[in-house]
Amino acid sequence: MFVYDWDGWATKWLSLFRYLLRTKWSDAELASKPLKSALVMASDFTHGTAALSRTFSNSELIHIRFPVTLPIEEIVAGINHAQPHFLTAYPSVLRVLSSEARVGRLRIAPRRILTTGEPLLPEIRADAETVWGVRVGNVYSSSEAGGVAVPCEHSRSHLSEDLMIVEAVDERGEPVAAGERAAKVYLTNLYNRALPLIRYELTDEVIVLAEPCHCGSAHRCIGDIQGRLDDMFVYDGRRIHPHVFRSVLARHAGVGEYQVRQTDRGARIAIRCDAPVDVPALGGEIAWALGTLGLTRPTVDIHIVARLSRDQGAAKLKRFVPLGRKR
Ligand SMILES: [Zn+2]
Repeated sequence: MFVYDWDGWATKWLSLFRYLLRTKWSDAELASKPLKSALVMASDFTHGTAALSRTFSNSELIHIRFPVTLPIEEIVAGINHAQPHFLTAYPSVLRVLSSEARVGRLRIAPRRILTTGEPLLPEIRADAETVWGVRVGNVYSSSEAGGVAVPCEHSRSHLSEDLMIVEAVDERGEPVAAGERAAKVYLTNLYNRALPLIRYELTDEVIVLAEPCHCGSAHRCIGDIQGRLDDMFVYDGRRIHPHVFRSVLARHAGVGEYQVRQTDRGARIAIRCDAPVDVPALGGEIAWALGTLGLTRPTVDIHIVARLSRDQGAAKLKRFVPLGRKR
């Protein structure tokens, strides 16, 4: 349970949407009319952003929510009907929406596209940017703290440094320099006095960037978060980063989505295909990659599914599931 007082709740909403409001107010065409923001995310109001959008959907910014658990045909029909100015989706959903747009079923012209909730993989961003011709920005947020890093008009994710202290640290809690990948962050929230968070640990692998942004914000930017410390697969003390799987899977164009579960000796991988995939070759390449990292005779079992299972509460796709986890 995360407790907010009214000012804290309103500030949390602004932490997430102030850059979108700046986009609206700085654009003569958009400034005068209500903006429609389509969100393809969890519908459960125990999820922070769902509850926020119910409180703050107003004449400036109308939130239209599409539960990610709906059939894709219904989501596409709903977004076509809404014709939103902004589109926000989990990266795994954006990947599907890009495919729908490419084949002409999804027909919208969003001004900005945002993702949140899961790592935004480079191939998913590139795909959406090609299809719609606009930049994709990634929101790093949490129910506990709100918008930790939120993209500006240049699609660079700025830390909310006026609202919270974000310390990028290594596994021992020592500070990590700009440009280096942190193992986790310590977050101290300065605006929610109903429930203070002091050096609260989030196990996201953040990289704080040294270069300033030209948008006018002096808040530091972060790179796209590609994983979490607890996504790491550990085999007999040998740590394998999920990037090993991702880099091979991304090379096979027919793989639409995937979920990798660690097994004792390798992994079991569910894939949803957009086009034919050479499954034996894919399995062989992953096994080879694991072998080069020291796994002895790794086993990789790949099966094709129609739909991947999502986390029940937040409906996010848990892409990498280490051994011992249920999902
Ligand atoms: Zn910026």
